[in-house]
Amino acid sequence: MKRTTFLFLILSSCFLQLSFAKVKVVTSLSDLADFTRVIGGDRVEVENLVRGSQNPHYIEVKPSYMLKLKSADIFIMIGMQLELWSQQIIDGSRNPNLLIVDCSHSVKKLEVPTSKLDASAGDIHPFGNPHYWLDPENVKIILQEILEALTKISPADHEYFKANMDAYIKKLDVKIAEWNKLMQPVKGGKFVSYHTSFSYLADHFGLSVVGYVEPKPGIPPTPSHTTELIQQMRKTGVKMIGLEQYFEDNTPTQIAEAANAKVVRLCTSAGGLDKTDDYISLMDYNVRQLIAGLK
Ligand SMILES: [Zn+2]
Repeated sequence: MKRTTFLFLILSSCFLQLSFAKVKVVTSLSDLADFTRVIGGDRVEVENLVRGSQNPHYIEVKPSYMLKLKSADIFIMIGMQLELWSQQIIDGSRNPNLLIVDCSHSVKKLEVPTSKLDASAGDIHPFGNPHYWLDPENVKIILQEILEALTKISPADHEYFKANMDAYIKKLDVKIAEWNKLMQPVKGGKFVSYHTSFSYLADHFGLSVVGYVEPKPGIPPTPSHTTELIQQMRKTGVKMIGLEQYFEDNTPTQIAEAANAKVVRLCTSAGGLDKTDDYISLMDYNVRQLIAGLK
């Protein structure tokens, strides 16, 4: 074989590999993985680190997570320190080319502290409430961040990614209208949750979360706080505790019994419970549960 032909073959095979190489994405949450699959289609390879059944604030950092990031193009996270554990994984991956995407920049943030938090108070929401993905309108902001990141790594696929995103937003808008309509009869409803996971969800549907089983975000229940919460629920007539999929139900059940309320399982991430395989079915599930709990 002539040397030039040989070189040509080598170069063209490199080119083929490049043009068919998938963008490798690691996300923190399963929901972010779902959105990335929606936009990236068959041109991305996606993995999430936190299972839907896990509390995203606390995961055990494993060396295998660093290896996943070592070979990834993009790491997508919620930000606002939800993934306090992520820096350790990013540092450990020693991947200088990793594109890190924090989806929270353009989100209208709730519960931003007005004074500097005392670290000893243990509050795990120092930049405000990070559970914003549970407002379906915020998903559009997240999709835009993901689109920009995928485009940076694979500019030639921009039109493909954009078309996928637009199709999903259309579908999401239909679902948002459906959820809003279904939730209309329970608008103004009040409930208690374990952690402050549902502020954005409640805000979207015109509901109020009026108390928490945790005395502060990240602080386990205490007897004095539990007593106060029961009194508050009795006084205000709150009949529902919306319990995240990953919290124990002993304390919430005791509180509910004492306050003549019921415990309803809600879910914060895709795959966290049965029939919550993706974000849309997760929201379908939460809407059904909220209606059952509040009506
Ligand atoms: Zn939280």
